[in-house]
Amino acid sequence: MRDSFDVAVGSKLFHVYVLAAVLHGSELAIIDLHSLRTYEKCLRGWGRRLLGWPRGSPNAAVLGDLGWDDFEALALGRVAGLFARLRCRPWAGVRSEIFVVVFQYALTRNDSWASWAAASLGAAGVPDHNVWGVGPGAPIAAGQRWRRRAAVSALSVSSQQRFTAASAEIDSLAFYASLQPAPLLHLSVHNRRVQAADAREWGLARCGHHSFCDGRIARHQTYHSQCLLCDCDDGTLEHALNRCPATEDVRSTWRRRVGAGSGYSDGFAAMAWMFDPGSLHNSGPTCVAHVALVSVVSRRGALVFRELRALNA
Ligand SMILES: [Zn+2]
Repeated sequence: MRDSFDVAVGSKLFHVYVLAAVLHGSELAIIDLHSLRTYEKCLRGWGRRLLGWPRGSPNAAVLGDLGWDDFEALALGRVAGLFARLRCRPWAGVRSEIFVVVFQYALTRNDSWASWAAASLGAAGVPDHNVWGVGPGAPIAAGQRWRRRAAVSALSVSSQQRFTAASAEIDSLAFYASLQPAPLLHLSVHNRRVQAADAREWGLARCGHHSFCDGRIARHQTYHSQCLLCDCDDGTLEHALNRCPATEDVRSTWRRRVGAGSGYSDGFAAMAWMFDPGSLHNSGPTCVAHVALVSVVSRRGALVFRELRALNA
């Protein structure tokens, strides 16, 4: 799937066909926080496959790079729709509306699914339905308006807050978090002009999943504090991208493509430029050039790293 579609198309197809089917009727399967976490794990697994990332790549970055809300927000958005429908129906004394009576009763029971779901919506900051005129006898449109304008946007904000908290929890994602403050799919990287495999390498390097000494893969290894490619004392990705003589060939191509005199010669500014597609200093073509540079350097590093590991095994 990943090779035939770009990620943007794959993500759309996933939402329309797979996720809609999973969410349909999910109210019956998601009865507490534990089952929600199980679905959350599945969602990240699907996202990881879509990006082509290996197991062990950082969870927070998967949803962040795809621009997806987490499963809690998606499932509760669905629940909000059900609640809106049930709350708008008149219920007192009408026999055919027995399930609405059951719903109202369940809301009063602390151990029921309905009361858990209502509390979860409240905890996520969803505004009270009464304020939006949603209650027995109200038109269904009022319920839909509450769901769309109040519930879904509040759930999306709470999902973004969980993403920020999850990125901040992992030290090695500090650089990533500074460039990707909210989940967003960058179309200047995920498009047809960029090879899927190159976008994959760039995405993994951005969240610290690379073979250089400051990467997650090499974190527990101590035998290469030197550069993997030129044997100097600086083994970081920043050195390999900006100064390493062994990558000068690919860097000179990159320099030609991004234009001379850009002012971002090395250091953190250059890294931020290469890895932040949303930067004002980037355009579509410069992003494509950054992805090409990073993916080639990452692959060279990974190759040497594998050889080293084989030698030390
Ligand atoms: Zn080097």
